[in-house]
Amino acid sequence: MLLQTERLLVAQYGRKLIPAGLTAGTGGNLSVRDSRTGYIAVSPSGMEYDAISPADVTVVSPDGTVADGARRPTSELAMHLGFYAARPNRHAVVHTHSPAATALACLRRSLPPMSYLVALSGRDEVPCAPYRDFGSPALAQAAVETAGGCDAVLLANHGLVCLGKDLDAAFQLAEELEFCAGVYLRCLAAGAEPVLLTKEEMARARERFGAYGQPKGDE
Ligand code: 13P
Ligand code: ZN
Repeated sequence: MLLQTERLLVAQYGRKLIPAGLTAGTGGNLSVRDSRTGYIAVSPSGMEYDAISPADVTVVSPDGTVADGARRPTSELAMHLGFYAARPNRHAVVHTHSPAATALACLRRSLPPMSYLVALSGRDEVPCAPYRDFGSPALAQAAVETAGGCDAVLLANHGLVCLGKDLDAAFQLAEELEFCAGVYLRCLAAGAEPVLLTKEEMARARERFGAYGQPKGDE
């Protein structure tokens, strides 16, 4: 079986999406790229996450040709491939239908620097891409273009996409940004806009994240 480790990761992290409050039903999808071969392990389309085993995870080449697996890959394959082509240093994509981020995307608002955690996206603000049909090449293009160098992008009236150096990073970013979107919506519901952090404060947050947590290699 090609990409055994990556397929296991896609199945394992897929199972965490619903308990983490990041999606409902079969919404959302995820993938990992093997940096050695360039092949990508992607979640299958329309399958319940708790029913997905590593063998159900499809392996595709960078142009989307199926290399291994019997399942039809996610309907958002073009979006995943688009991000991998545009961002050579990112090796995982997590697309969620998490409620707060999706609500923000329904308002067609970006997520501003209302918390230092937004700096985890690599930018001061997470932009919102225009609405396009789900699973369409147009959505893939809008998402990749709007994200630019940001590791996350909201999809209007749809959800959120996060990128990471690995699947753990992309998944954690989706959790943190969902938290931020929820807090931002609470501020708006309180009838006020939050005070936003300055460019300098966000730059310092990004710098501090570089040294945050346990020393590298101690995991
Ligand atoms: P898939 O089940 O095909 O991955 O689609 C779910 C989704 O989120 C579409 O945007
Ligand atoms: Zn979706």
